[in-house]
Order: sequence, then structure tokens, then C-alpha cells
Amino acid sequence: DSITVGELAQRMAVQAGQVVKTLMKLGTMATVNQTIDGETAQLVVEEFGHTPKRVSESDIEEGLETAPDAEADMQPRAPVVTVMGHVDHGKTSLLDALRKTDVVAGEAGGITQHIGAYQVVMPGGNKVSFIDTPGHAAFSEMRARGANITDIVILVVAADDGIKQQTVEAINHAKAAEVPMVVAINKCDKPDADPDRVRQELLNYGVVTEEMGGETLAVECSASSGEGLEQLAEALTLQAEIQDLKANPDRAAEGTVVEAKLEKGRGPVATFLVQRGTLKKGDTFVVGNEYGRARALVNDRGDNVEAAYPSEPVEVLGLHGTPQAGDRFVVVDSEQRAREIAEHRQEKARETQSTAPSTGSLEQMLARIKEGQVTEVPLVVKADVQGSLEAVNGALQKLGNEEVQPRVLHAGVGGITESDITLAAASNALVLGFNVRPNGKARQMAKSDGVDIRYFSVIYNLVDDVKALLESKLSPTA
Ligand code: GDP
Repeated sequence: DSITVGELAQRMAVQAGQVVKTLMKLGTMATVNQTIDGETAQLVVEEFGHTPKRVSESDIEEGLETAPDAEADMQPRAPVVTVMGHVDHGKTSLLDALRKTDVVAGEAGGITQHIGAYQVVMPGGNKVSFIDTPGHAAFSEMRARGANITDIVILVVAADDGIKQQTVEAINHAKAAEVPMVVAINKCDKPDADPDRVRQELLNYGVVTEEMGGETLAVECSASSGEGLEQLAEALTLQAEIQDLKANPDRAAEGTVVEAKLEKGRGPVATFLVQRGTLKKGDTFVVGNEYGRARALVNDRGDNVEAAYPSEPVEVLGLHGTPQAGDRFVVVDSEQRAREIAEHRQEKARETQSTAPSTGSLEQMLARIKEGQVTEVPLVVKADVQGSLEAVNGALQKLGNEEVQPRVLHAGVGGITESDITLAAASNALVLGFNVRPNGKARQMAKSDGVDIRYFSVIYNLVDDVKALLESKLSPTA
């Protein structure tokens, strides 16, 4: 757990002389090539006003966290879109219909492979990449693993059914991730479709569409008839333009695993979504705890390709093990280095598995509040009836101080579900149950994801606990 003065300076992108001076100020005399311990390094980093990152273990991983790209190298890239909404509102149908709007595949007759994501050339010529797994569970599971790959969420709402429980969940998952939404008001071909009611109901959840004077784009469409799909494509392009999505294609590739599996005859196969740089056939990479060399790249049409560019999904063959969805991949310069890093990570994973104390989100949150790193305490609130939910919400809103505020990501009536846990895990949130319990699956998930659930049946106790938490005086084991 040590670092040379020169290296530390380089990491902070400051001159070594400045680090030497700062060290002097702290009472340590050291030259550029001398080594200082982690604690001292941390003090230096803080002196420079940076947030210290653990420097131990960094040697072997060094260079994997690459510097940001220069503005001049950035090029526009396609948005990555995830479809969410209530069951049966048409998520899958809409994904299929959008896929068929592909102007290029249309000409070629487009036999398409399911590799977990696909890119479509929309009418108008703009590209959009879709994640093939609709729904907020997959979305938040990826996020819980640290992968934020979605740029835009399409919120599908059936015009004949309106806002339902999972619609609200989807809204809250997207909001917690700070990913903008485009609303697809689907099934507008149905005689009892009422798009106005949908826009009206969305207001209750803080989603203000353009027609209502807000900024959220909403499009009336039908996955069945194809009506409105072009407008939906336009809305996605417009939303992407607002976000000014860019990446540097001209560098070693980095990105995220969308899907991975072990296939008979093909070995471990993973779909990579490239987020920066260009992934080329023959590239060596580290991915999660695994590594490999891209023996073949297969796109979403089943074609072998030589390279994949930012926002493009591609199936990669030539892995030495099966990574997990949400794992990050980084191209490195040699197979030996890739193996070294992967082995190091595997070792570390084994260690943490056997020795790590349970790092519940509550403990982490308390630590971060104490360090002044958080200004908001994210909460997921579930209650038995609407009345108590409102009372809890009302009480929570009155809490907080100048430094730290509670922030309710999702509040709902009913038992604690898997969806609540994935949201909490992805957002480092605490789950508060008022006269409710988790179902078996949610309880298991909470345990394995290290999500803390606290139960209450008296509002006073709940308020007291949250207050103590905000003052970071809550005992994690209480
Ligand atoms: P998901 O559960 O959200 O993925 O919904 P699906 O895509 O499976 O659709 C549920 C049902 O609604 C299916 O029977 C679809 O055929 C039907 N459906 C989907 N979109 C439309 C639409 O735009 N109009 C009509 N009339 N039916 C639709």
C-alpha cells in the first residue's frame, strides 16, 4: 500500500514538485522517486482537493482506468436504449416492431440473431442501439453491478390501460439512474385508447410531457399497426441530440458485457457493448475476472465483422471464462498482462468471498455520511396501506438538515419485492418496510446483494431511525 511521489503526481495530473512541496507542508521530506505510504498519499490527495481513491492493488491494474478523451477526438454515437413498462403493455412487441423499421436490414431481408442487444438504422438514417431485455429488473441489476449503459429509457404505457404498478416502478428506476425517458403511448390502435389520460396520469409521477408544458417527449404509437414508430424514432434521435452523446472511436476499446453464456461447441460467448474506442478482431482484453482474445466478432445479424464501434453490440468469441452481464471489458496490450490482471482479480474475489465482513449498504451509507460524501440518503419505502404510506412520506419530508437529506426513490403499497431490492442495490438505498415484509425471493436477494431492510410498525420509530441515520448515529446492527 505505497506509491512513489512521481506516480502520485501523475495520477493527480499535477507536477511532482507540487507534491513534494505539499509533503513538506505535511512534515514529510521526499524526492520524486521516493515511496510514501498510502495514508500519507491520501493526505496529499486531500490537500489537492481530490477525492482519494484506494491506491493499493493499483500496480497491477494500472493504466486500466484511462484518462478522459480530448474533446477534439469525440464523435457522435448512437444512443443506447432500454424499454421499460408494465407487463403486457407491449415492450416486447415494440422492440420487435422497432427492429423491423431497420432500413438496412429491410433491404437485406434481415435474419437477426438474439445476442442481447441490437442496433437499428432508423428511418431518417440515425442509428439507435436497443438492449434486448426489456424491464427494470435487468436495467437495475446491471446498475447494481456498476454498469450504467442506458442513455434513454423508452417508457411504454398502453393507452387503453394507463399507469400501472410496474409503470411507476419503471419511472422510479429510470429516475434513480438519472436516465431521461421518452414515453411511448402504445396500443393507440385500440378503440378504447386514451392517450390524454396517460399524459394526465404521468403528471402524478412527476413526468411532464411536452403537451403538458414539460420536457418529456411522448409519442402515440402502435406496435401492432406500426403507426407512430417513425415519430418514436425521431423522438429518440431528438433526445439523443439533447444529450449530445459522444465517444472517441479512435482508441483501445472499453465497454460492458450485456449478456454472457457458455455455449456447446463455441465455448464462453459474451456480447460486448462498446462504449469507447473500437474493438477489433484479435484484440486482447480483460473482462470482469476473465480475459480473452477476440477470435471472432459476430454482429446482431449473425455476420462476422472486423470491428465494433462505440454503441455497437457485438458477440465476442475467444474468452477463457464466462464473465457476467454488467462486467466491464477493457482492451489491453498483451495477453500476458490480460491474464495477470484476470488472475489477480480472481484471487481478490476469492479473498473477499472468504474474509469480507458483510458490507451492508447501511454500514457503507453511514461511513459515507460521516465522511461527508453523501448529501442525500436514498430510501425505498413500502407500506401496508396508502394511508400509512402517505404518513411515512410526509414525516420523511420533514427530516434532514443542511448537510444531508432523505430522498425517497420509490414509495409503494404492498410487500417488499425483488424490484424494490434491485432498485435499492443499484442506488445504495435503504429499504424501509412499514407493516410489510419481503417475499422469499426479495429476502434472498437482499441478503446476497447486501441491501439492508428495516422494519417498522410505529411511525415514530421510523422517523427516529431515519433521523439518527441522517445524523449518522445509527448503529448498523441495531
Ligand atoms: P410486454 O409484456 O410488455 O412485453 O408486452 P407484449 O409485447 O408481450 O404485448 C402484450 C400483448 O399486447 C400481446 O398480445 C401483443 O400482441 C399486444 N400488443 C402489443 N402492442 C400492441 C399494440 O400496439 N396494439 C395492440 N392492439 N396490441 C398490442
